[in-house]
Amino acid sequence: MSSQRGNVARTRPQRHQNAEVFRNDKHDTSTQRKKINAKLHEGLCQHCKEVLEWRVKFNKYKPLTKPKKCVKCLQKTVKDSYHIICKPCACELDLCAKCGKREEIVIPIQTSPMKTENQLAKNYQQRKSTRDNLGDGDELNLGGLEDEDGLDLLIQGIKDLKPERTEVQ
Ligand SMILES: [Zn+2]
Ligand SMILES: [Zn+2]
Repeated sequence: MSSQRGNVARTRPQRHQNAEVFRNDKHDTSTQRKKINAKLHEGLCQHCKEVLEWRVKFNKYKPLTKPKKCVKCLQKTVKDSYHIICKPCACELDLCAKCGKREEIVIPIQTSPMKTENQLAKNYQQRKSTRDNLGDGDELNLGGLEDEDGLDLLIQGIKDLKPERTEVQ
């Protein structure tokens, strides 16, 4: 009797046929696709970076059309999809820009000191001038979170398909 895996008749069809390596730029050679593919996921923890990389790879990454509101400084300074914290805040508070947790950041945010200072000063002034105008019920930047479960399932499905060689003699 063999304990080798793979002989068991599957009761469900394979969810993803990956006979060849999946390439999201095979039919889509637009500059936007290239831009998204080349995107550097900085200021994120390992988990969030992986999630966004999967999104990019499987065409699930929707770029922002306009900046979203940062949950920390409450300014519309978030320029990356699925991020909830803007880069200056994530950098300053040492938090993951997507999940907002204090995790180890894989790619640190690159900001020149000058630019950061200017940005912070600008943010502060904006904050002062827009504080009175707040309260218009502007939605918090939680967009994209609700289909996270679906993505996790997708990732799990793909991980399941990885060939297991450990049991082969
Ligand atoms: Zn911020
Ligand atoms: Zn994170």
